[in-house]
Amino acid sequence: MASAWSGSTWAACAGIGPEICTRKVVGVKILLDEDELRAGVAEMAQKIAAFYGDRPLTIVAIMTGSLVLLADLSRQLLMPVRISLIQASSYRGGTQSGQLWLRDDMMLDVRGRDVMVLDDIFDTGKTLSAVLGCVAQMGPNTLTSAVLLHKLGRQVVDLEPDFVAFHIPDEFVVGYGLDYQDLYRNLPYLAVLETHDIENSPESQLSSS
Ligand code: 5GP
Ligand code: MG
Repeated sequence: MASAWSGSTWAACAGIGPEICTRKVVGVKILLDEDELRAGVAEMAQKIAAFYGDRPLTIVAIMTGSLVLLADLSRQLLMPVRISLIQASSYRGGTQSGQLWLRDDMMLDVRGRDVMVLDDIFDTGKTLSAVLGCVAQMGPNTLTSAVLLHKLGRQVVDLEPDFVAFHIPDEFVVGYGLDYQDLYRNLPYLAVLETHDIENSPESQLSSS
C-alpha cells in the first residue's frame, strides 16, 4: 500500500514545472502529485479487480469528493460496472466536521448486487460508516468500501475500509476531488491547505469584501 507519510513526497511548487504552476490556486504544499495519484489509484484498482474477478460491481460513489476518483478508478475496472451516486456531507463550508446529512434519491437499486461504496477520504469514519449502514439496509448481496485517502489517527468508528490507496498525515487536504468551500476540487494533485491559504482563498476574500 502506498503511503504519503514519507518526507520525500513533499514538493515545492517551484519544482513541478510551469504547466502545473499555472493551475496552482493557493501557496500549496503538494502531498501527492499526479504521478503518485495515478500509481496509487491503479494499485487499488488491481486489488479491487483481484477481489471481484469478473463479477458485476455496483459502485456507490459518495458525492462530491469522490467524483475525480470515480472517473479514474472506474475506467480501470474491466468487470461490468454500474455507477450509483449518494450525497453525503459533514463539512458545511469549513475544515471542521459538522452534522452529517445524506441524500439517496440518485441511488440505483442495489438489491442482490455486489456493491462497493467509494469515498475520497476516511477521516473520523463517520461518513463511510453512515453510508455503509444506509446501503446495507437496501439489501445488497455483498458490501465493501474503498477510499483514496485514510487520514492517520482520526478514526472514531470501529471500521476499516476494505481498499485504501494512500495513508496520509492529519492535515486538511484539497485537490483531486476534495474541496475547501467548494473550491480546489479540480486541482490535479493533492495539497495541504494551510491557515494562510485559507485566509487568502478567493472565497475568504469574497466574504470579506
Ligand atoms: P469523516 O466522516 O470520515 O470524518 O469525513 C469524511 C468526509 O469529510 C469526506 O468525505 C470529506 O468530504 C470530508 N473530509 C475529511 N477530511 C477532509 C480533508 O482533509 N479535506 C477535505 N477537503 N475534506 C475532508
Ligand atoms: Mg466527502
